[in-house]
Amino acid sequence: MKSFRRELWFEVPTRRAFINITPKVEDCLQKSGIEEGLVLVNAMHITASVFINDDESGLHQDFEDFLEGLVPHEPTSRYRHNLTGEDNGDAHIKREIMGREVVVAVTEGKLDFGPWEQIFYGEFDGRRRKRVLVKIIGS
Ligand code: ZN
Repeated sequence: MKSFRRELWFEVPTRRAFINITPKVEDCLQKSGIEEGLVLVNAMHITASVFINDDESGLHQDFEDFLEGLVPHEPTSRYRHNLTGEDNGDAHIKREIMGREVVVAVTEGKLDFGPWEQIFYGEFDGRRRKRVLVKIIGS
């Protein structure tokens, strides 16, 4: 069995963003030389997500509106977490909604996606350097 590990670094200039990281994961898979196996992609920070969905027009704004409707950033005083002096109480909860990681099958050296599936990094407390872990195992 082979294994491959890489950290992808991001520094998003805004508080929140969604980034299609599929090409970066495909690059890792190519470098791993693994033809059959599994790839795990997880956010390494508790205010960011990795999830799978479509890269479709309007969808990211719909996610943003949905999350802000449920867990608005403002007023920051509504979150007990922010009594610590932080202002990212909403970001911790948004990450719980959008998830920590995805696992994708690797078949014949390719990510074995369903129709339209793409891998996204969801940032909810950006403007600093943060990481995503890519771990690939197989043969
Ligand atoms: Zn926090």
